[in-house]
Amino acid sequence: MSVDLLTAPLSSILNSSIDGVFTTTAKGTIVWVNGAAQRMFGWSKEELLGKNINMIMPSPYKEKHDGFLAAFRPDHGITHVLGAGRWLEAVRKDGTRFPVEVGISVFEDNGERYFTGFVRDISERRAAENRLRFLATHDQPTGLPNGLLFIERVKEALDRSTPVAVIVLNVVGFWRVAERHGRFSAEHMIRVIACRLRDEAGTAGLVSRIHGESFAIMTADTEPQALAERLCAVVSRPIAWDSVNLHLSAAAGVAIAKPGDIVPDSLLQDAHAAASHSLRWGACGGVSLFTADLGNRMARESLMEERLRAAVAENGLSLALQPKVRARDGVILGAEALVRWHDDQLGDVSPTEFIPLAERSGVIGDLGTWVLRRSLEHLAEWQRSGLTLTIAVNLSAIDLRQPDLAARIGRTISETGCNPSGVVIELTESAMADDPVQATERLHAIKDQGVSLSLDDFGTGYSSLSYLRHFPIDSLKIDRSFVMDTPDVPNAVAVARTIVSLAQSLGMKTVAEGVETRAQASFLRELGVEIFQGFLFSKPVPPDIFRKLALAGPIG
Ligand code: C2E
Ligand code: CA
Ligand code: CA
Repeated sequence: MSVDLLTAPLSSILNSSIDGVFTTTAKGTIVWVNGAAQRMFGWSKEELLGKNINMIMPSPYKEKHDGFLAAFRPDHGITHVLGAGRWLEAVRKDGTRFPVEVGISVFEDNGERYFTGFVRDISERRAAENRLRFLATHDQPTGLPNGLLFIERVKEALDRSTPVAVIVLNVVGFWRVAERHGRFSAEHMIRVIACRLRDEAGTAGLVSRIHGESFAIMTADTEPQALAERLCAVVSRPIAWDSVNLHLSAAAGVAIAKPGDIVPDSLLQDAHAAASHSLRWGACGGVSLFTADLGNRMARESLMEERLRAAVAENGLSLALQPKVRARDGVILGAEALVRWHDDQLGDVSPTEFIPLAERSGVIGDLGTWVLRRSLEHLAEWQRSGLTLTIAVNLSAIDLRQPDLAARIGRTISETGCNPSGVVIELTESAMADDPVQATERLHAIKDQGVSLSLDDFGTGYSSLSYLRHFPIDSLKIDRSFVMDTPDVPNAVAVARTIVSLAQSLGMKTVAEGVETRAQASFLRELGVEIFQGFLFSKPVPPDIFRKLALAGPIG
């Protein structure tokens, strides 16, 4: 072609462009190139001129290109014609490929059509974009895919209808250990675990870190539960750090895709649900399989949690009071307050079901506050009408973890205007187990409010006898499970006898709960138990009935 096709000024402008510029005939024969094009592709001007432009294209563009030229209409964008994305690939003389962006202009001269292509090397931009995409889809310290990418991969597997299971694995004890050994230990643990999980899951598994101490694993393994158990096991192996070994464990949940499953999120959610089930109930080997039944139970639990929250907030709870009587003569000394919950949808729910739920979900704080206030209001009312009675309030182990518990009790006492000598706080041994030294301090602070303390369910927990003498406890409650078996089962008798003499030697009273028969009552009376509580005397009753009972005189 004659260079005069391009005017001299135009040709000089194009020559200084940093984009590679090619002009071709309608058939694709290169008739003009600029310097940048030669540098970009490694071909000299002589090598390019007269050749077909498709020499700088890799397959499959090469094949499509002739068609493109034939079909080109000025109103078409190039990407439209080539069916490609926003960028294309070009190939250098040495065969290496690189990403480019291409703009095309078309002009006619003497009835001939020419194309001018502007080719921009976007390798650097693509690299930066890839890096960004990697960062957005991968977890920083481990380099594992993150939750976003994981979901995408699960979706692809489901779309292909390949058999797939998702395992969610939560590392147990992570934050506790990290707190003790510092931030760097946390990163180290996560990296080691990531590595071990990847090794164990093998090439057929995709390990991803979804957040914090939670991992998700997609696998085609036909025995995903066994794999989950092995994954938990590798997390439990000691992790060397500084000069010590760090010990963690894991709980996992498995969800297996059924034919026709298409929603990756729900598969992950099911695995999550099963994992939190393992976490809560310490399921065998730390692994639970998601089943419809588990799903139903968890749905009931989450409905229950929601309703319970509302009940606590909207005054939907009530109290039942169970008399405590003097063993000697049946005189009513007071009552234990037992919380009751009736829900329109769920019916009557037992505290043995909703108290643990309240503890797990954090509702227990407000629930305990409500029970305490309501109980002390009753006590204040009795005291105003001249009744000398006590009221026992159950506090959960979680309550004892609150540093302001004693202050809250003190505030409730003054706000309700009761005399604290009538208040008994019942705590279980497990409340003391975590940190006996701190528990002792907190118990003293509670005692300082002028109330009494009673150790509930005594004999069932892991009470440390050496600490018992440091606890400012006024009474021990012999657990119903022992009372139930007296006087016939020798070891229950032995336990009851031991508790009574232990209490006596520590200057504490004993209360027997769950007394149902006269035989139990007379046996325990002889042992020296001072206070009885149980169906033999009265079931828990509404407060107005309790008041009547207390006024009516001794029972039993
Ligand atoms: P607990 O503190 O050991 O309460 C005694 C439980 O034994 C009560 O069950 C009571 O109804 C039952 N009971 C009393 N006498 C007898 C008897 O003679 N025979 C039998 N078979 N059972 C008897 P309830 O009310 O279902 O409470 C169960 C548990 O729920 C309580 O055990 C306590 O741990 C917890 N709880 C109840 N109310 C509260 C509360 O207000 N706060 C907290 N934190 N826990 C509570
Ligand atoms: Ca109790
Ligand atoms: Ca008890």
